[in-house]
Amino acid sequence: MQQDIKEQIFDKYFVNCEKAQLICNDLKIKRSEFSEIAKQIDNERQDELKEMRRIRQLYNNKQGENFEFTNFNEFYKWYITQFEKQKACCYYCKTEESVLTKLFEKKYTSVKRPNRGKHLEVERRDSDSNKYNKDNCVLACYFCNNDKSDIFSEDQYFEYLKDRKQFFDKQFQSLK
Ligand SMILES: [Zn+2]
Repeated sequence: MQQDIKEQIFDKYFVNCEKAQLICNDLKIKRSEFSEIAKQIDNERQDELKEMRRIRQLYNNKQGENFEFTNFNEFYKWYITQFEKQKACCYYCKTEESVLTKLFEKKYTSVKRPNRGKHLEVERRDSDSNKYNKDNCVLACYFCNNDKSDIFSEDQYFEYLKDRKQFFDKQFQSLK
């Protein structure tokens, strides 16, 4: 029961940013009890909360006409699940995010936008429809995201990754 309330407070307060008093009314708990549990979560899930702040920033930056996630909760849950599904690796080249983080911290420091590179980015598989939603998005590394751009489809890009020259030769042949 306690664990369930804790999980609900995590969701309502930390993910959805609902007001404390509303949560207390909703869960029928005292304000002091709420504060105690919120403090516990703050201590116990620091890394997760830090990552959540980063993902929220991402969510805020992506808002626009092709953005179809209805709220942060939906986006956050999608991101976390997708990250696990991909085993913390780029969807295309399978490089681990932790490897890229280290490389961008220690080696590729000349990148113009300092926030790019260290984390997997939200990539749209079908760039024609251009939509940000659960079905069309995956997490890709900085390199694949730039490389695939809006030129290649998902299938084409996998083929291109295998053998760049062969891929272009084949595309070239098909012109004739
Ligand atoms: Zn990649």
